[in-house]
Amino acid sequence: MSDCLFCKIIAGEIPSKKVYEDELCYAFYDIAPQAPVHFLVVPREHIAAASELSEENAAVVAHIFSVIARLAKELNLTGGYRVVTNAGADARQTVKHLHFHVLAGAELSEKMA
Ligand code: AMP
Ligand code: ZN
Repeated sequence: MSDCLFCKIIAGEIPSKKVYEDELCYAFYDIAPQAPVHFLVVPREHIAAASELSEENAAVVAHIFSVIARLAKELNLTGGYRVVTNAGADARQTVKHLHFHVLAGAELSEKMA
């Protein structure tokens, strides 16, 4: 998608602080962190949101969760972590490219919303 911020980050057209990349996904630190550790994991394929997942394209989500588990070990997130994805206006999704927030490094709010 030519007009997508995260597609441009994946392509290296917009700088990011990379955490990890492989053939299916890219991970980078959030520009406005909401926890001591806050990074995003996105599929390389442009999928607009979790609401656009189907049997045909959802395998990447399992891959991303396995990557997150590995990164959590490498980054020593021993206290745990939270994974969040916002889909649509009510969830306040601002970037229309599927992404998983990984939040960690402190005890997080008990509120989910
Ligand atoms: P969401 O509100 O779920 O769509 O989350 C979008 C996230 O992208 C927000 O947490 C932003 O801080 C983050 N973000 C926006 N632009 C950038 C950027 N250039 N580099 C890293 N993170 C960004
Ligand atoms: Zn995109």
